[in-house]
Amino acid sequence: MSQAIMIVEDEPELAALVADYARAAGYVPEVFGDGAVALEAIRARTPALVVLDLMLPGLDGLSLCRALREGGKPGSELPVIMVTARVEEIDRLLGLEAGADDYLCKPFSPRELMARIKAILRRAGGTPPARVLAVDDAARRVLVHGQPLDLTPSEFAILATLARRPGQVFSRAQLLDAARADSLEATDRAIDSHIKNLRRKIDAAAPGLEAIRSIYGLGYRCDL
Ligand code: CA
Repeated sequence: MSQAIMIVEDEPELAALVADYARAAGYVPEVFGDGAVALEAIRARTPALVVLDLMLPGLDGLSLCRALREGGKPGSELPVIMVTARVEEIDRLLGLEAGADDYLCKPFSPRELMARIKAILRRAGGTPPARVLAVDDAARRVLVHGQPLDLTPSEFAILATLARRPGQVFSRAQLLDAARADSLEATDRAIDSHIKNLRRKIDAAAPGLEAIRSIYGLGYRCDL
């Protein structure tokens, strides 16, 4: 099943934010700012799910959703999450039987949107996306979107330490200890330079992923 998610949203910053979260969750986002262009693309490429803003240039979200639901055409069964700027709109849309699977009011938390996307795709019977960053201890590899990275032993030790505990902050000293415990090759080379190389390699494999975050004054964290 396709893990493509189409984001139909004419506010570029919000669209980019949602796309970042979708990418980090293992989906493949595609953004459209115009409703009519989006409808054509949805029919042509049939993504796994559509996140649809109500007020759009070209074709508004309600008309787009109804057009999509027209029987027989490609994409007519696609899950749709409709996003509106006003909470009162949701009642009106429900009354109009707009045809969306879920409704969300702006401003929304991108995490909440991701949770709803996952819930809908689970109900739809799709397989959840594989972890974006996966540690293969047996082969001493780290995979990004299933592709192994070419890492030195120290880089593997550091990245594996971060990736095994998503959300946990590790200090430079902890990462150096982990690298020394894990790898005979580990040197005193500053952790920061290992991190720099890791970021470059991850970015080459998955541009814009931002797998390793710097936590000011503390160290590093992996959120994936
Ligand atoms: Ca809008």
